[in-house]
Amino acid sequence: MALFPRCATVRGSQSETTMTIPEEAIRDALRTVNDPDLGKDLVTLGMIKGITIDDRRISVGVELTTPACPMKDKIRGDVERAVRRKAMEFGVADASVEVQFTADVRRANEKTREGGNPLPNVKHVIAVGAGKGGVGKSTISVNLAVGLARFGARVGLLDGDIYGPSLPTMLGLDAFGATAKGNVLLPFELHGVKSMTLGKLVDPDKALIWRGPMAHGAFKQLATQTEWGALDYLIIDLPPGTGDVPLTLAQLLPLTGAVIVCTPQRVAQDDARRAVRMFQQLGVDILGVVENMSYFLGDDGKEYDLFGRGGAEMMAQSMGLPFLGSVPIHMALRQHCDAGTPLANWDIPTLASDLDAICQRTAAQISIASMTAGRYVQPTISVT
Ligand code: ADP
Repeated sequence: MALFPRCATVRGSQSETTMTIPEEAIRDALRTVNDPDLGKDLVTLGMIKGITIDDRRISVGVELTTPACPMKDKIRGDVERAVRRKAMEFGVADASVEVQFTADVRRANEKTREGGNPLPNVKHVIAVGAGKGGVGKSTISVNLAVGLARFGARVGLLDGDIYGPSLPTMLGLDAFGATAKGNVLLPFELHGVKSMTLGKLVDPDKALIWRGPMAHGAFKQLATQTEWGALDYLIIDLPPGTGDVPLTLAQLLPLTGAVIVCTPQRVAQDDARRAVRMFQQLGVDILGVVENMSYFLGDDGKEYDLFGRGGAEMMAQSMGLPFLGSVPIHMALRQHCDAGTPLANWDIPTLASDLDAICQRTAAQISIASMTAGRYVQPTISVT
């Protein structure tokens, strides 16, 4: 039940004539406000979760499709303007408009899959891939997961790089042992993120040599026998290149899309292109490209262009893919990776804003992908 009357009342100074703004009029005004990423109005998108009208004070509840929405400020401004304009039509010149945001990540529209969905409580599975090793794929995966969690999302991070798991170091898992409940693994819960890695289940110094079916089995078990609980996003750090694990992943789980990490050099772009083509062949959407090691930020504050800054962005453009942002080579980023303290990246304002921008653009692309009905195609690979 509404706490306040659902009309704004305008009292004449002389007479007691009143003019009211009906809730429906405010709703009509909100039909003129689009979510800029989703390209439809807030009412049609079902994002209006309440309108309260208390005399000249009008409050609008807007439910975003992700807590990391990059368009929050724009939506707030547009809602305020549209509601004030409507209030003016009813003679209320000094309406105060408050926008209250909540967020609920929407599940991707999924076609019925053969074999069902083994992770029904996970709303989005996001693969992070790269054409080659060493470009910062694990670094971006960790910071994407931690960054989305900082915005308030429920996030899991799976180390799918079963050949060379990096998460034990990058998340600082050394002091923790893996625990199981029956035949399910309990994820580590650190830095606001639930995580699982093979690196905590096998001898870390042993070379992990897997034949195709073994890699398939190991990855499948890690992904589906971990008790993730309810998640908005499950980020999967894939091995570099175009091997068995992406194929297993695409067959096993309904992927919302893949993020490609690339450094600016031409050779890295060529490999990243191959990774993009692989995902496309597997029927997986590309959410976008992140340019890592864009330039080097010296102690003198100068930016040194080592690798050809903007190369990965140009590659994204030429392939018609969204660009999700860039991160420079930053000594602190490497130090925090080695120390297993990713949250410390947010103590450095420039780094924090670069990472937040990547998280927000990725979240926006996930929301956009979710709006496309029945987009998932189960991969059928034919070898000729
Ligand atoms: P990949 O997963 O692609 O093999 P990693 O994420 O493991 O690459 O990164 C390789 C190394 O480079 C790590 O030591 C990591 O800390 C470092 N690194 C990655 N990105 C950056 C960056 N932008 N600035 C500084 N060091 C970085």
